[in-house]
Amino acid sequence: MAERVRIFQHPDSLLVGHVRNLIERAGIPCELRNWMLAGGMGDLAPIDCEPELWVAPHNAERAEAVIAQWRRGDALAEGLPDWQCPVCGEAHEGVFDRCWQCGGSRPERE
Ligand SMILES: [Zn+2]
Repeated sequence: MAERVRIFQHPDSLLVGHVRNLIERAGIPCELRNWMLAGGMGDLAPIDCEPELWVAPHNAERAEAVIAQWRRGDALAEGLPDWQCPVCGEAHEGVFDRCWQCGGSRPERE
């Protein structure tokens, strides 16, 4: 059994799945753990069943860079969805982070 290091965990399994996609798209094999447990409604303490992402140690640095980039909200790398200005209702492509019409900011994701 190859050694693995945990690089990410979050109670939201959809979010973990999204991050896994980003990592795998970067060419890094990624192992998902606690995935099934996360969707359950049992009495387990949440911290014990959060979905986790594990990678081989030699990939950890690269995977963490992918996550760091995602956390910075790198729009171009990630292919953000279109968004609608909460102030004036104008529609925008994901690469823009401000409304060109009223100057409003793109709503935070998550
Ligand atoms: Zn606007």
